[in-house]
Amino acid sequence: MATFIVLLGPPGVGKGTQAKILAETTKLAHVSSGDLFRENLKNQTELGRLAKSFMDKGELVPDDVTISMIRDRITRSDCGAGAILDGFPRTPIQADALEKMLAEFNGEVKAVPFITAPESTLVERASGRWTCREQGHIYHQIFSPPKKIGICDMDGSDLYQRDDDKVEMVTKRIRVYLEQTMPLVEYYRKAGKLLEIDGTQAVEQVTKELLSALYK
Ligand code: AMP
Repeated sequence: MATFIVLLGPPGVGKGTQAKILAETTKLAHVSSGDLFRENLKNQTELGRLAKSFMDKGELVPDDVTISMIRDRITRSDCGAGAILDGFPRTPIQADALEKMLAEFNGEVKAVPFITAPESTLVERASGRWTCREQGHIYHQIFSPPKKIGICDMDGSDLYQRDDDKVEMVTKRIRVYLEQTMPLVEYYRKAGKLLEIDGTQAVEQVTKELLSALYK
């Protein structure tokens, strides 16, 4: 059975960083809905243009287009054994759609690590974040700077600051998260899948706790 791990948590908590590490460790694919939207934006697809109008406001892209984008992505062969889902699902409708999709392909949500941190930490992290243009590797100007300013250590591509990582936008995204995504915490807790992780700790410590919670 294909194994899917859903990473849940507010914007700026470190989901993307942990998802990349987890994907390397578990050899599962890393599927980030935000990265997929940004890729569509870069390639100027119709989906990219539609998504941009919501992303620019810090709002969620409508469920139907988001669900069909993820469906296309997780039916690709690299997700045959499963995937680390980063940023999806973000609403109860998306979570229900995921259950239905996985039932079709003989997959299951195995666990849902829920990474938390206070709002001040989230704003500080997101507003200092630099993202690699090529593959989405993540840096922080103070906590994890690249070796060379503006250049990704991993693939040498440019680093840029996401428009939606400006302080006011991060605050708006946190509000959207509290209203629309928080209900998923209870959804997955009831299903016995929620693993709570303290995201204020150093990256390595969060990874360690994630791995031991997943494989205990
Ligand atoms: P992220 O990179 O996960 O912070 O996502 C960036 C933006 O992409 C979000 O603020 C939303 O506008 C959009 N987005 C990402 N994932 C989803 C999702 N599952 N549902 C709706 N919109 C999403």
